[in-house]
Amino acid sequence: VDPISRILETVHRELAGERGGALADYIPELAGADPDRFGLAVAGVHGTVYRAGDAGEFTIQSVSKPFVLGLALAELGLEAVLARVSAEPSGEPFNAVSLEPGTGRPANPMINAGALLTTSLVPGPGPAERFARILAALSAFAGRPLTVDEATYASEHATGDRNRALAHLMRAAGALTEPVDEVVDTYFRQCAVLVTVADLATMAATLANGGVNPRTGTRVVGERAAGHVLTVMATCGMYDYSGEWLLRVGLPAKSGVSGCVIAASPAQFGIGIFSPPVDERGTSVRAVLAARRLSEAFDLDLVRHPGLSAPVLRRREDTVPATVLDLQGELDFAAAESVLADLLALPAARPLVLDLTAVSRIRPVAAGLLTATLADLARAGVSTALVGSDTGVLTGGRWFPRRADALAWTTTTTNGGRT
Ligand code: GLN
Repeated sequence: VDPISRILETVHRELAGERGGALADYIPELAGADPDRFGLAVAGVHGTVYRAGDAGEFTIQSVSKPFVLGLALAELGLEAVLARVSAEPSGEPFNAVSLEPGTGRPANPMINAGALLTTSLVPGPGPAERFARILAALSAFAGRPLTVDEATYASEHATGDRNRALAHLMRAAGALTEPVDEVVDTYFRQCAVLVTVADLATMAATLANGGVNPRTGTRVVGERAAGHVLTVMATCGMYDYSGEWLLRVGLPAKSGVSGCVIAASPAQFGIGIFSPPVDERGTSVRAVLAARRLSEAFDLDLVRHPGLSAPVLRRREDTVPATVLDLQGELDFAAAESVLADLLALPAARPLVLDLTAVSRIRPVAAGLLTATLADLARAGVSTALVGSDTGVLTGGRWFPRRADALAWTTTTTNGGRT
């Protein structure tokens, strides 16, 4: 067994005896769940899924909301979606009447009112086509064809008057433009889609991976849409626990009243957890505890200081006819900013060799700052040789694959001369 699965197994073993919470029963079908079911999965952004415990299916419930939001964002764009549903934490329970006075615009797409509205935004034309698109999108996120649990769908359809009421209020205020019964029906179906923890981890990893499913390689939504979904999850995904969740776990997340939770760490992994007993907020008790342990074990709190990386300036030489600066690591804003100070202090009329062989990546912001600085240096009479492979992002100097050629070139440039 690999060490990642071992961590999952340890968390599973340590929390299996936790008895807190109770089964949600306002949807009668959920009250029949087995409270001892407990499963965890982590999906990396390279396509591997690690698991422990229960591997069976359960209904996705509110964890469908971020993915339907992703679909709406991909189809309509951020502005059109924001015009219809806000993105402010409501600080209220998932089923609250959190509507803007007058307009009826719901507070955010993670509470029921906002999710009903988001569902209505998915292009149809009719409800059947709308649900077909939603099911196809959820399946693409999971990387396998998903199905609907008809019993849970029927159970919520028979009892979901509060969601109907929310839809009627939004319709009366003009916020919801589609027929109430159609929208509510589609939403109940979307909540009754069957998934496993491995599916949820893969779905979350797809968001973490910029919208590309790491298992299938399929682009499900654009990178911006995926990022926007994670942002809304971070601020609103855990309802009136979102603030404390970000403090304690530090990852964008979403909970569902069947007892499932997802969390995602951008460019790192997705997590799926399932354990039916939920707290008064409708969030799985074991899943919250497990997510806290995993966030600690994987050391990936989103807002924690990442620690100082190695200095970007590896070595400086002033002995040869040129000033030679060796850079290393990833050039981001802070790295480029620290090099700017060295570049701006360079003696005029002496060529510069900027060796980027040990640079792993140049972020656009760093490329922009360095390109502008090299242009300023050129105007001041400093010609620059760049060493490494020219990927086209950094200009303002002459590229050489090998350092020896760059040094030779600097000797041919006259003092302060340009080529
Ligand atoms: N289908 C459920 C509802 O609308 C989803 C709620 C949830 O998971 N928090 O009430």
